[in-house]
Amino acid sequence: MKTKLLSLATAALMASAPMAFAQEQQFVSIGTGGVTGVYYPTGGAICRLVNKTRKETGIRCSVESTGGSIYNINTIRSGELEFGVAQSDWQYHAYNGTSKFKDAGPFTKLRSVFSVHAEPVTILARRDSGIKNITDIPGKRFNIGNDGSGTQGTWEVIEGIMGWKRSDLALAAKMKSSETAGALCDDKIDGYFWLVGHPSGLTQETIASCDAVIVPAVSPEITALVEAKPYYRFATIPGGMYPGNPDDIQTFGVGATFVTSADVSEEAVYVVAKAVLGNLDDFRKLHPAFANLKAEEMIRDSLSAPLHPGAIRAYRELGLMD
Ligand code: GLU
Repeated sequence: MKTKLLSLATAALMASAPMAFAQEQQFVSIGTGGVTGVYYPTGGAICRLVNKTRKETGIRCSVESTGGSIYNINTIRSGELEFGVAQSDWQYHAYNGTSKFKDAGPFTKLRSVFSVHAEPVTILARRDSGIKNITDIPGKRFNIGNDGSGTQGTWEVIEGIMGWKRSDLALAAKMKSSETAGALCDDKIDGYFWLVGHPSGLTQETIASCDAVIVPAVSPEITALVEAKPYYRFATIPGGMYPGNPDDIQTFGVGATFVTSADVSEEAVYVVAKAVLGNLDDFRKLHPAFANLKAEEMIRDSLSAPLHPGAIRAYRELGLMD
């Protein structure tokens, strides 16, 4: 009898423990991208800093590999993700209900937290493919990015300004970024493109495993696009960053940004924003693409949606904002 009473008491204790735990902890998930991209380690770096203080703050952070920018924004909108990494062009369009987000309408609750690394349009081609510039892509077997990626969305914009049809490609593949290096090396595609920070693991892998080159994205249509839209910039992928690619590569691109929803609590966003901007030296060391990040640019540049009040609280406290 005594044993039974004891075990009942233990069971009661065990049943109440998870409840107390659940009240104290708040779980936040970050939507990222393919595992060999830069978004995935970006989410990992953010969570690593957030989770260092999880005993005091109660905020516990986890990372999800996803299809990329557009998937992340849509999933934050439906309330299934608290945070996500997204290209600045798609942040702009989601907030304003333009381009791909026209049917869904403006996502007025979209909120910025900070911007991260630059993401130039990065075209990788087999050296024997004849692709020397973006203008050589029609007629080739080319990967335009998986559904839900910001990459595929930006490909559609490029098609629009260049006057290309999808059928102008010999093959329009929609593989996930993590599958593209293998496909290029196996000669299943002539090239692939994505918008990504540098140096990136997959770009390195592609160049190391097959004889691939990064080619420029230069044309009068692109110049006009960059000059017309606030979320595009001219960009250069520095020569020598990857073996066998000694010359600077002229291209254009966007910024990677970190976003959330107005429905996510001020406290959670405050904790996340403070963990990163308050420990920027540590954050910079977590990925080589973060090497040149500057606090004043991160809280201002490439952000179309308003800053979340939790982020503003963190930046004021850190003396980054009045
Ligand atoms: N910018 C890419 C996208 O949204 C993802 C890049 C990455 O995974 O680092 O499709």
